[in-house]
Amino acid sequence: MDWETVIGLEIHAQLATRSKIFSGASTAFGAEPNTQACAVDLGLPGVLPVLNEGAVRMAVKFGLAVGAEVARRSVFARKNYFYPDLPKGYQISQYELPVVAGGHLDIELEDGSTKRVGITRAHLEEDAGKSLHEDFHGLTGIDLNRAGTPLLEIVSEPDLRSPREAVAYMKRLHALVRYLEICDGNMQEGSFRCDANVSVRPRGQSTYGTRAEIKNLNSFRFVERAIQYEVERQITLLESGGTVQQETRLYDPDRGETRPMRSKEEANDYRYFPDPDLLPLVLEESFVEEVKATLPELPDARKARFTRDYGLSPYDAGVLTATREMADFYESTLRAAGGEPKIAANWVMGELSGALNKGSLEVTASPVGPEALGGLLRRIADGTISGKIAKEVFEAMWAGEGDAEAIIERRGLRQVTDTGAIERLVDQVMAANPEQVAGYRAGKDKLLGFFVGQVMKVSGGKANPGQLNEILKRKLAPR
Ligand code: ADP
Ligand code: MG
Repeated sequence: MDWETVIGLEIHAQLATRSKIFSGASTAFGAEPNTQACAVDLGLPGVLPVLNEGAVRMAVKFGLAVGAEVARRSVFARKNYFYPDLPKGYQISQYELPVVAGGHLDIELEDGSTKRVGITRAHLEEDAGKSLHEDFHGLTGIDLNRAGTPLLEIVSEPDLRSPREAVAYMKRLHALVRYLEICDGNMQEGSFRCDANVSVRPRGQSTYGTRAEIKNLNSFRFVERAIQYEVERQITLLESGGTVQQETRLYDPDRGETRPMRSKEEANDYRYFPDPDLLPLVLEESFVEEVKATLPELPDARKARFTRDYGLSPYDAGVLTATREMADFYESTLRAAGGEPKIAANWVMGELSGALNKGSLEVTASPVGPEALGGLLRRIADGTISGKIAKEVFEAMWAGEGDAEAIIERRGLRQVTDTGAIERLVDQVMAANPEQVAGYRAGKDKLLGFFVGQVMKVSGGKANPGQLNEILKRKLAPR
């Protein structure tokens, strides 16, 4: 049978506030365990939560960026369950009335087409603490530092149809929250994590199949692999006459499989009710307008501008705007280079990205910054060096040997533009290769490449290519 995969993602993005969503405790990652959980985060008797306005601003910013409805009134609810890392016995979340509802995100598919993925809702909630299993033999350690860290849970419609699409959506969302500066996106530290809901159905069937939810995937690779495994598991199960259980599963990256964790709880298991300690969140129109004014240029708009203003192909513009950092790097380079957008794009996407990948470096940690790269591109543009020699200069810059100017001088890489000097080299090469000269003059035009290569070789790659071509053609012309 031909099966269709159906996926919906719930993404938890930790909001980049300095303090927690309902208390003044720090959200900084990596502190000594249990040093950053205050009485409010622990839910000790007598305390009251106070909503962090910064977290609300970030949620609203997100809602506006995905074309969603920002609710003028939303409600915090208690989601009740028992778990050692949840000291209050409930998580403050939003249930019936979330702050953001009904938006969308466009993703690009491999064939170059665009797909619109619906965003059902995004709600504010608090993170729980963390259970630590590793350093405790037969015991579980509890670190409550994370308790109360603000989360935006972003729920997609079941619009995704393959593991690849799911990853493309997740990456787009990841880029967006970083563009918006509402989440640092650090997946190792758990700042951006995903629950994947997966089901399959016979192609053509209009109702969805029963889904399994895979919890807490914290890398793009794991998301893709976990979904792939889960799809195959469900198909095998259904084809052998079984049924898929609605359940929560865990992905084990070492074994590359998903395992049942618990049967799926229904909403009523959580006994949701409005939190009596918190007033409904009411947003004035002026507040929303104020947040709107802080929206940066978003990835799609920036991509469109790159194609329009810089004449870049949609592909190049897409790569260069994939992250805000990359786009900033490119535009700074271009400014420093003083023009030639296409050449700057080639360098940023080519030499620079290659070197970054090799060193597993983020663009913000590049040893060659945009000013330095722009300086190198200026030397190409003004004819000081050829594009080929520039690659050698770039490598030296990467190795920390200084700026382009210094390296060109120290290594004597300046391009030979003295016509007399190039002519002497041409004469020398022609004298050494009389047969090829005769061949060229007899009509073998392709031999021109041979002469260019020979002269470049004796010049150490420094002869100005334009001048060289012109001189060669003149001197080789049949007489
Ligand atoms: P819950 O709150 O119990 O997790 P929701 O109805 O809010 O359930 O759905 C959560 C996620 O599951 C959403 O991203 C939604 O798109 C997705 N989803 C719902 N039904 C299916 C299905 N049959 N197959 C795949 N994903 C689904
Ligand atoms: Mg869920």
